[in-house]
Amino acid sequence: MPSGIYECISKISDKIIENKDFLTELDREIGDSDHGINMARGFQAVMEKLSPDESDIGAVLKKVGMTLLSKVGGASGPLYGTAYMEAGKVMAGKTEVNSDDMKLIFESAIAGIQKRGKAVKGEKTMLDALIPASEKYSQKISEGENLISALESACESAREGVEFTKTIIATKGRASYLGERSIGHQDPGATSATLTLEAILNYMKAK
Ligand code: ADP
Ligand code: MG
Repeated sequence: MPSGIYECISKISDKIIENKDFLTELDREIGDSDHGINMARGFQAVMEKLSPDESDIGAVLKKVGMTLLSKVGGASGPLYGTAYMEAGKVMAGKTEVNSDDMKLIFESAIAGIQKRGKAVKGEKTMLDALIPASEKYSQKISEGENLISALESACESAREGVEFTKTIIATKGRASYLGERSIGHQDPGATSATLTLEAILNYMKAK
């Protein structure tokens, strides 16, 4: 029985590639116009490396991470690469994701991003979507909700996080060069992180 991890990554890839121009446009406003290009290139390479019959979730996530690390330039390649690699470690040998696994995936991915990029919440990065999403997810699971409904709430928090990035100054990454001029623009990485979570949710709902 295949674990579905190939389909899930392929949904993430489709979503990122569909939004390539949008993400690049966002990065044009406060960066160097390459976020969509970087991410789409990375996921194209990822899909070339994966095979539909792979079922070890940890091994697949590790492969995704290594590919993003090696194929994506800019800040986002190493950051997303590390996130997937760290998530791969907690999922090593597993062929199913239960609600506790999903919590570990969130937390290990965020820890990896923070270890590598040294950012915290409120610096106008992908973490402004991921940290509130992860916290909301854990809260909903501890209140007894199931994986899908907790993930639905997490996606809502991620979208709120993206809105929040419009109101703050970037203090990490390229956008920080703009200082106050970064206000009013949503962060490209927070946006791609939210698209990723939405793709995971859609995959899980359709399964
Ligand atoms: P680059 O900024 O090198 O051109 P990208 O455009 O692909 O790379 O990615 C930019 C995104 O990376 C930003 O929108 C932000 O979300 C994220 N980012 C940048 N630096 C950091 C960091 N230190 N920690 C977390 N995310 C970061
Ligand atoms: Mg850029």
